[in-house]
Amino acid sequence: MNQLPVRHVVIVGGGTAGWMMGAAAARFLLDGERSITLVESDEIGTIGVGEATIPPVLGFNRMLGIDEDEFIRATNGTYKLGIEFVGWRTGADRYFHPFGTHGRSIEGLNFHQIWLKLQARGGVGDLGGYSPSTVAAALGRFARPSGDPASSLSGLSYAYHFDAGLYAAFLRRRAEASGVERVEGRVVGVDRDAGTGHVARLRLEDGRQVEGDLFVDCSGFRSLLLGETMQVPFESYAKWLRCDRAIAVPSARAASLPPFTRSTAHRAGWQWRIPLQHRTGNGIVYASDYFDDDEAERLLLGRLEESPIAAPRRLSFAAGRRARLWEGNVVALGLAGGFLEPLESTSIHLIQEGISKLFALFPDRRFSAVERDQYNSLMGDAYESIRDFIILHYHATERSDSPFWSDMASMAVPDTLAAKIALFREKGRIFRYDDELFSIPSWVAVMLGQGIVPQGYDPVVDALDEDRLATALPHLREAVRRAVVGLPAHADIFPPPTAA
Ligand code: FAD
Repeated sequence: MNQLPVRHVVIVGGGTAGWMMGAAAARFLLDGERSITLVESDEIGTIGVGEATIPPVLGFNRMLGIDEDEFIRATNGTYKLGIEFVGWRTGADRYFHPFGTHGRSIEGLNFHQIWLKLQARGGVGDLGGYSPSTVAAALGRFARPSGDPASSLSGLSYAYHFDAGLYAAFLRRRAEASGVERVEGRVVGVDRDAGTGHVARLRLEDGRQVEGDLFVDCSGFRSLLLGETMQVPFESYAKWLRCDRAIAVPSARAASLPPFTRSTAHRAGWQWRIPLQHRTGNGIVYASDYFDDDEAERLLLGRLEESPIAAPRRLSFAAGRRARLWEGNVVALGLAGGFLEPLESTSIHLIQEGISKLFALFPDRRFSAVERDQYNSLMGDAYESIRDFIILHYHATERSDSPFWSDMASMAVPDTLAAKIALFREKGRIFRYDDELFSIPSWVAVMLGQGIVPQGYDPVVDALDEDRLATALPHLREAVRRAVVGLPAHADIFPPPTAA
């Protein structure tokens, strides 16, 4: 029996994290007895970036009962089939990390294992040719996946690009309509209970006070409650992830409106390109130890494919996370909890993950250590597995054209990642542990894309008739191509607004 239910949930911050939590809380926590209050300061504002997502975001929207077409319209969104990586291996290469699968498993074997074996015979093409998302991205086509498992399009998967400001506003409308109370004001003080050390109330600049049982810190990089008040230390990942600066600039809408994010490496980091309906999001991510701010801005502006439509905005960050994401009666979501650079568009996902784990372990006012520890363990694992995936892109490189890339290639990586790379190099095997976010096709695409070539394949593949496989694969590839060619052009789904 829950004797002491949490009655008052207070969210600090109204960025993407705050309003994702607000909208989810409105849907699942408002039971007539509980209040949800969100405090935010327009004067402080939000970070205003964070526009590319990964497929689990569809699940979040579904959970909230959001209609996809309405959502896309409201956020000026587009569809995303994966990420194109340019220049990460040699400086002159490109590869695609698709959402969804490559081919289909045969007799329970991962498709890439069959491909690895047959590749030596020739005539099977690259692995991307078996991935509907890769082929559709290359041709600028898009459709929602087929629900028919026999269809070549069943392995297609997608996410969204959207305008971060419009996304938060969209969620805010839903949350407020369902009863979340928004308080405008700057938090200038936080009182803790002398006995438990828990946060008891927020003090606002104008003298108002906001009391609560559970506080959700969505205050951005400042980490007002978890970091500043509860003093939970920050664990840095900077020895592996050296980038600590970004400059963001929007440019005009891309005529071709590609259904994917592009990440182009440069001599000390990388540059993103995110096509939206009304504009293109661009930004450069770089390591300040290796690259000067002004030089980075010049490089960013020089590489824009469309004219800029606003002034560049400079941002600083640190890679890492708070040692515990839940402390006492404070749970941090979004940038208040930690940050991993947006190379694989994982931050919004981590917010979603934090919310669903919090709901799964929702406390009562005793704030039991068992629930809190479980949350911290699960969220710690989530950060670490994404961290490893991002480090892989930097470390597995043949680039040595700048001190940055030489250092990346020679650095010692976390043991968990070193083991994954070694296993893949041996026979192309990848194992997905526990709740790990990235699927086997994702790891395979990036390992191969970054130039890690397995020395062998899974010997179990030898049990299958090689000639039959050699006949089947080109058909499979052709079926994917034919299915994709018939899809609508992504740019036609979102025609540019016509002048009145
Ligand atoms: P913020 O947007 O900073 O919001 C903080 C909120 O707290 C604001 O409302 C602010 O007013 C409020 N606040 C702070 N202090 C106070 C106070 N004292 N009193 C009252 N209110 C206060 N993620 C992705 O998933 N995909 C991407 O492509 C992506 N790209 C990114 C690119 C860059 C360069 C960066 C830095 C991040 C990117 N992210 C991306 C991460 C993404 O931007 C964030 O995860 C997301 O925007 C959530 O931010 P937030 O809500 O935690 O913080």
